[in-house]
Amino acid sequence: MRPKPVIAIDGPSGAGKSTVARELARALGFQFVDTGALYRTVALLADEDGVDWSHGPRLAKLVEGHEFAFDSKGILYLDGNPVGDAVRTPRMSLGASEVAQHSEVREALLVIQRVIGKDGGVVLEGRDIGTVVFPDAEIKFFLDASVLERARRRFEELLAKGRDITLDQIAREQEERDRSDRERTLSPLRKADDAIDVPCDDMTAMQVVEHMLELVKSQFSFD
Ligand code: C5P
Repeated sequence: MRPKPVIAIDGPSGAGKSTVARELARALGFQFVDTGALYRTVALLADEDGVDWSHGPRLAKLVEGHEFAFDSKGILYLDGNPVGDAVRTPRMSLGASEVAQHSEVREALLVIQRVIGKDGGVVLEGRDIGTVVFPDAEIKFFLDASVLERARRRFEELLAKGRDITLDQIAREQEERDRSDRERTLSPLRKADDAIDVPCDDMTAMQVVEHMLELVKSQFSFD
């Protein structure tokens, strides 16, 4: 048993995982790890280096040739530089979902995620944290919301960033990405048998965080 728990948060895109995971980590003084950012960064690196998203072995070589690190606030650094919004574009959402289908890429990123989380005191969010990355996580949550609510949340997020995109476009892209994440052979998006369901439709992000915080504190005591 680790002195502090590993908290795994999985769910489809737009369920609010990142906001909730970041706030939960902050409230507990834990490290926050947005694992989707790793996949997005692989897609970006591939674009920059002219590597096709369909080439698993070459993508894995790219991962091995660079240094990925999260700071205490959960910001991802690539070779010492913050990755930033360059990975938050619709193209990189698509690219992440494509590169994530290769076993070589998943293996290479698995190593990074396990090194960061092995001693606990960490909140990791993604698609396969409770099933594959940390099947022994002390506490697992599965966040979900309706298709419409998830599309609406992503729409508002992108609108705030000044992106020229419609709700309909987002709903279609999200649906396509979810289908691919759920149906892929390797580490598909799936609720772990021992994960706690958190339906997020009718709660604000902060209400979700409070709910999760209560559950964590009721099960673990740590400094
Ligand atoms: O969470 P985010 O939307 O940033 O993730 C982008 C993509 O990366 C997902 O659609 C999924 O295909 C992939 N991913 C994954 N496993 C994770 C996290 C993300 O396959 N643990």
